[in-house]
Amino acid sequence: MFKKILIANRGEIALRVVCACKELGIRTVAVYSEADRHSLHVRFADEAICIGPAKSARSYLDIPSVISAAEISNVDAIHPGYGFLSENAGFAEVCEASGITFIGPKPSVIEAMGFKQHARTAMQKAGIPILPGSKGIIESAEQALEMAEAVGYPVILKASAGGGGRGMRVVNEPAELPNLLAQAQAEAGAAFSCPDMYMEKYIRKPRHIEFQVLADHYGNVEILGERECSIQRRHQKLIEESPSPRVTPEMRKTIGDSLKKAMREVGYTNAGTVEFLMDEDGSLYFIEVNARVQVEHPVTEMVTGIDIVKAQIRIAAGEKLSDILTEPVTMRGHAIECRINAENPVTFTPSPGKITGLNLPGGIGVRVDTWAYSDCVIPPYYDSLVAKLICHAGSRQEAINRSLRALDMFIVEGIHTSIPLHQRILQDPEFQAGDIDTGFIARFLDKSKAAGS
Ligand code: ADP
Repeated sequence: MFKKILIANRGEIALRVVCACKELGIRTVAVYSEADRHSLHVRFADEAICIGPAKSARSYLDIPSVISAAEISNVDAIHPGYGFLSENAGFAEVCEASGITFIGPKPSVIEAMGFKQHARTAMQKAGIPILPGSKGIIESAEQALEMAEAVGYPVILKASAGGGGRGMRVVNEPAELPNLLAQAQAEAGAAFSCPDMYMEKYIRKPRHIEFQVLADHYGNVEILGERECSIQRRHQKLIEESPSPRVTPEMRKTIGDSLKKAMREVGYTNAGTVEFLMDEDGSLYFIEVNARVQVEHPVTEMVTGIDIVKAQIRIAAGEKLSDILTEPVTMRGHAIECRINAENPVTFTPSPGKITGLNLPGGIGVRVDTWAYSDCVIPPYYDSLVAKLICHAGSRQEAINRSLRALDMFIVEGIHTSIPLHQRILQDPEFQAGDIDTGFIARFLDKSKAAGS
């Protein structure tokens, strides 16, 4: 087992990895930007190294600074968390070249999964259903028009190197296509230094459903059930739950068996998430693989009782899945995660600043993953996630009720947060009925506006 791990991240996920390491008896090294000097991950790690100024390009994304910190502190491994360098195959390669284990899949697999068009082809080969669309990268507007004609409108243009919902455009009719393609290419080029686009059939009112995978270095793969993440605003998830109200045990088994085979075939190791869209008929179609731990991993942890971050570390250290998961994977009850962001719950503008008062809820079935404390300052430079509230109970309705009472007791003073928004969504009759799709939030906000609230 590793003796010392460097955590190449910040915020709640850095702290989450510190927790896993402490429980495994592994020493930790935190890295931080000047803006995060007083962060909890810095306080609770055994060692901490400042790696640069606030701007992530010069700190958390600066590979030479992170590697120097790892070398100075003499760590055996690096946990990248999510975001930042977590899906950067070049970074994983530099780690390996420096004799440091990267806690994640092999660089070649990260790279293959990072180009969504490749991942689509690989999954299709392994028998996973994909949406009708382009076979390769779109080469010209003329070719795109032909493809769209064959697929049938509406279609969605997506960036092969995309993430965070950027570089996507929905096209409803041929006349719009050339312009939207040019816009999406420009956006993808600026955001990902790669303007490559592909095309998929656009699904109306899809549910976003994703499966959690763990795979060891000996060809063993386990699926830890699914998460439903249909409550999204502008493709950013807000509320996630497990299990999905729409997935039956039969569907879970069928897709799980195909996924085990597919992940083995692509040589996948460590933790990963395979994302699908479900159409109104209940058919699932692959959209992408996230080759890292996800923000929403705790809902899976709550229903399966499996610590995914510890499993990642143990897999990277060469342990077998059969030693990590000593019992068959089962899902018990229902878990819901609310992402508490530092933002105005009505306008969604970021709300950084000092938290002047804080009460974190507790009690049975309540988990809070946060890096916030009273008097801490939420800097304006990074994403706005301040805390995740995860509530687990015997049934979906009980988990909703538990979340509502925990949100009531969750007090954050000094900044705006998304807590009031979560309270309204969780009380919405459509949400309560499990009648959700990725268009839920847009409809919900329109409804709230019309009602003047
Ligand atoms: P990113 O990596 O940028 O997050 P994804 O491929 O994961 O992109 O898609 C993000 C979200 O965009 C999905 O959860 C869904 O809401 C929407 N989306 C993506 N592809 C389609 C599609 N073919 N039809 C309808 N919605 C889609």
